[in-house]
Amino acid sequence: MKIIEPHIHMYSRTTDDYQRMYDSGIRVCVEPSFWLGASRRHAGTFFDYFSLILDFETIRAERFGIDHYAAVSVNPKEAENLDLANEVLEGMEAFLTHPRCIAIGEIGFNNISDNEEKVFLKQLEIAGRLKMPVIVHLPHQNKVEGIKRTISCIRKAGVQEEMIVIDHNTEDSMPYARETKCFAGMTVYPYSKLSPGRVSAMLKQYGTERMLVNGSADWGISDPISLVKVADFMRHSGHPEKDVSAILLENPNKFYSQSPKWTPDFDIVPQDPREYQR
Ligand SMILES: [Zn+2]
Repeated sequence: MKIIEPHIHMYSRTTDDYQRMYDSGIRVCVEPSFWLGASRRHAGTFFDYFSLILDFETIRAERFGIDHYAAVSVNPKEAENLDLANEVLEGMEAFLTHPRCIAIGEIGFNNISDNEEKVFLKQLEIAGRLKMPVIVHLPHQNKVEGIKRTISCIRKAGVQEEMIVIDHNTEDSMPYARETKCFAGMTVYPYSKLSPGRVSAMLKQYGTERMLVNGSADWGISDPISLVKVADFMRHSGHPEKDVSAILLENPNKFYSQSPKWTPDFDIVPQDPREYQR
């Protein structure tokens, strides 16, 4: 089956990963902006990174048969430096109009601080004004406090909830996510975060409407084909095929279709490696 991976950091992955993704059915992916592993000191470094994920990464993915979109933002981990964050926000709008920029993200809370809230609210305001989908990152710790404050910011900013995915939910945050009209994301990692079994249990409890699952692969121990493992687990634990297809294809398609720039191409033919390595 054809799969959309709605959250993955291909910047940190190799060409082997693209080949494995294609072989396992992933045809379209979205790459949100993330923390590079060391905090940036210059706004220009953000801008070069935005260009890289919007231009080069799209070309690289296409060589492997994958249609690649990206989202730009000041991520929560770098929101504490307000002067730098504001400088990036001033220059960011030029990238938001890029044909491959499908959303603003990831934004939200990391330490759940006041500075993070300021930068989060500003970016929600930009998203509302430009009518762009938003990828919201929940903090790794204190999920309940994090999601409560996230929802209060979303309501304060007055952004349409259907335009937002609140990502990285666990069993603790999910009841709060489901009280909103936001999409709810779940991230599957080999050891930390969720397993396919925990995702399956939450889908059985809460249904599949507005639910998204992602592998969120990055520099750490993560898996670019997590979604295939989720699909296999769902089939073996009694989920109907229509639910598997909702999670892997229709729901992410519905979420990103809220941007007029989303025209996913599921039929890109991978290039012969000898052609592009010359
Ligand atoms: Zn991420």
